[in-house]
Amino acid sequence: MTPQVPRLDTVDEVLALYERFGADPYDEEISQLDHALQTAALAVAEGASDELVAAALLHDVGHLLHLAEGGRPVPAPHNGGFDLHHERVGARALAGVFPPAVTGPIALHVEAKRYRCAVDSGYQASLSAGSRRSLAVQGGPLDAHGVRTFERRPGTRDALRLRAWDDAGKVEGLEVASLVEYRDLLQRVARAH
Ligand code: FE
Ligand code: FE
Repeated sequence: MTPQVPRLDTVDEVLALYERFGADPYDEEISQLDHALQTAALAVAEGASDELVAAALLHDVGHLLHLAEGGRPVPAPHNGGFDLHHERVGARALAGVFPPAVTGPIALHVEAKRYRCAVDSGYQASLSAGSRRSLAVQGGPLDAHGVRTFERRPGTRDALRLRAWDDAGKVEGLEVASLVEYRDLLQRVARAH
């Protein structure tokens, strides 16, 4: 089933979502905004491209869109046992503002988790409790066919990098660059689209 996808038209609209709903809990310990900022800070620290930094910052925008639509707050996508498909909703909502180099890794960040769970035996145990819970709702580890399909997709390398920052960007109380500090980068990436 294709979820209803709201559309975002400008960088300011995207930022306004984070200003308005960013305080909502992402996981047990940290807010949506803190998770976004930590994920982006890890991308910057690894010298990622502007597009991939934007993807890191905005990868969970689907959760914020859900809140903006009046959905009940969700600590990760295990809202009452169904998958919100936040990765697809987010990527599609951003497609009018940002290029595929931003939306592609966002669309694949859940599949990247399912992929790593399938191919890396220690990975699943390393995930946060929330991420392990959502895994079941998201379909669990990919099967052999899913693994082959994922490996053939373009952009899996970026998706796996994003996934690693996503998994690490959950540290309670960590101070990182603020949302406004990404505004110029986002405008630049959007303008080039
Ligand atoms: Fe996510
Ligand atoms: Fe995330």
